[in-house]
Amino acid sequence: MPQFRFACFAIALPIRRVFDYRIEADDPAVVGTRYRLPFSSGVKTGVLLDTNGASELDPERIKPVQERLDHEAVLGEHILALARWMSEYYLQPLGEVVFQCLPGYLRGARPHQPVRVKRWCLVNSDPTLTAELEPRSPRQFEICQALLQQPSGLTAIELKQVNTNWHPVVKALEAKQIVRWEWAEKPAGRAPAEELPELSSEQQRSLTEIEPRLHRFAVHLLDGITGSGKTEIYLRLIQQHLEDGMQVIYLVPEIGLTNQLIERVESRFGDCFVISHSGLTDFQRYQAWDRFRRGEVSIMLGTRSSLFSQSEKLGLIIIDEEHDHSYRQEDGVRYHARDVAIKRAQMLDIPIILGSATPSLESISNCERDTYFRYRLDQRPTRFPPPPIQLIDVRNNRLEFGCAAQTFAHVERHLAQSGQVLIYLNRRGFAPIVMCHECGWQSLCQNCDARLTLHQSVQTLLCHHCGFAQRIPEVCPDCGHNEVKHYGIGTEQLELGLTQRYPDTPVLRIDRDVIASREALKSRLQQLQTGEPCILIGTQMIAKGHDYPAITLSVVLDADQALFSASYRASERLAQTLFQVSGRSGRGDREGEAILQTRFTDHPLMQALVRQDYRQIANDLLQERRLLGFPPYARVIIFRADAIELKAALGKLEEIRTLLETASRFDSLSCVGPMPALMTRRIGRYRAQLCLVSQDYQTLRSVLQQSMPAIEQLGSSARVSWSIDVDAYDL
Ligand SMILES: [Zn+2]
Ligand SMILES: [Zn+2]
Repeated sequence: MPQFRFACFAIALPIRRVFDYRIEADDPAVVGTRYRLPFSSGVKTGVLLDTNGASELDPERIKPVQERLDHEAVLGEHILALARWMSEYYLQPLGEVVFQCLPGYLRGARPHQPVRVKRWCLVNSDPTLTAELEPRSPRQFEICQALLQQPSGLTAIELKQVNTNWHPVVKALEAKQIVRWEWAEKPAGRAPAEELPELSSEQQRSLTEIEPRLHRFAVHLLDGITGSGKTEIYLRLIQQHLEDGMQVIYLVPEIGLTNQLIERVESRFGDCFVISHSGLTDFQRYQAWDRFRRGEVSIMLGTRSSLFSQSEKLGLIIIDEEHDHSYRQEDGVRYHARDVAIKRAQMLDIPIILGSATPSLESISNCERDTYFRYRLDQRPTRFPPPPIQLIDVRNNRLEFGCAAQTFAHVERHLAQSGQVLIYLNRRGFAPIVMCHECGWQSLCQNCDARLTLHQSVQTLLCHHCGFAQRIPEVCPDCGHNEVKHYGIGTEQLELGLTQRYPDTPVLRIDRDVIASREALKSRLQQLQTGEPCILIGTQMIAKGHDYPAITLSVVLDADQALFSASYRASERLAQTLFQVSGRSGRGDREGEAILQTRFTDHPLMQALVRQDYRQIANDLLQERRLLGFPPYARVIIFRADAIELKAALGKLEEIRTLLETASRFDSLSCVGPMPALMTRRIGRYRAQLCLVSQDYQTLRSVLQQSMPAIEQLGSSARVSWSIDVDAYDL
């Protein structure tokens, strides 16, 4: 009987291999548990993937593990299988993928202990017993009053909302035996209060069609205009799964996890859900992950990485706004959460629901190939149809801080009728261009191939890519002329202009510069809830998710930005954004209107927008993509390199290309590059790319299978590093 056996571990390193260690024979060696492992001269955390009893390895050369961290698996077999698939499909190192699937809190050596939450309640709920506290201890009285309201008790987080200094007060009450605590193992089960809203005939029809298809894997696309009630369909489907004792993962884009949505889920399902997003601490996200994992709550409502939440009884995955590009992770492990979610649903043989007012071209083409079920929702349950969209031709118009005279007329009419106005401008700062009128000098970033944006309020020129900042020069640094001017309009300038023009109307700006946190956004949006006339200015932060019932006019100031972009995705994204913004108005009890300022009123995309015909736009774009041989009719894989010198980045990709060329079917691919990336210098590093395109996925796969082992030997360093991007979002 040997005293040890061998096990292999995933370690979060950009190296495409697993690592063998020795473990004691009496170690339970549970797959998915974490260990501390000696690694070169230090220690690393690894996740146990497999034990291999009889090994040809030389036991003398294999190090023993240092310490076992977990008593139970932190990653179940299903998630590990999903990680293996991701690693293979996206060609990412397995170790990094495995750690990506763990909550951030557990990626190091922190102990995994079931999170236990205390709940305090009154020993005796007779109000006369606490009433006598009032004159002597008002704070104790206040806490007792709150506990009286909530017979099932309050948690520390909830008590903090009553009094931020709750702890000594509650301790004093415990000592007086007025209050006691217990472990809150289960949610208090606050009863879902509301009556279910009536379904529209379209909603009812979609549900009737989906229901018989719920017992197995299938992808369902809810293709419904903004305001058509997709969320209500999600909630009904969640309800059914909860009644069957199943759990549900409900994903929304980072920006889409609004308080409105949280309140809606809460009012329907009480407290049997957790939320997870990047605004929470690692520990809070871990708590949410753990409560869901243990089945204490049934719904995980979260952003991209919540997809990896463990569950023994997952019955449904929902991806709202499935077209949103924030589902793609663009750094570290590159993956698309929608596509991984579909794979997860397939592996578990459960249904997945995608929803969007402007579905991605990928999903539309999948519907056309009959691999997805598609349900159309073209009506708004409120009385009003989608707002009519009107184009304002700005070619021969003098603009005042970006707005045409006609636009002002619309704004004034809506304000006079007590409407709220939303103005969308996806450019923050005061002005995007600062230059010298005499010599043509421009304010450029010293680290990036990008212009610095003028931020007037802080008297700074700022790079939006790397954060580089400098004072506004008083004279031109090149010719000494004292007239440095700015061009173009950002949200800051628009806010200033509108405030001066409409001094009696509140003007609210929402962008990254003024909204530092979710709480700040929440308080700003609360001002809108009053329904008083006001103007809301914002970047893409306001385009999604939020429901503003009093907005009657949406204005898109610069619809042309993306029309002639170098990116082949630009038109798709532009159309999606414009529909989203225009769909924000008229969602309450008043009719809405939307206007777009453009210099290209005859452009087919603008014309299709006026007809409110996203499907036509999507069909046209799909045809274009088919002709050009772009996704979804082709697969794109990009090798990217970045280095302190452009030559080094290109050289690394040249080496990769040489290795790819040795594969037998290389000639049937189209291979472009190496070439400098569109934005060559970013944050002080030069970037280059090598792009593989093929309509035949099998060929692409075969070339990579043959050449990857050699390519992986190339290694990365600080001087020049490379990565691979499968199904690259853009070229
Ligand atoms: Zn100059
Ligand atoms: Zn920069």
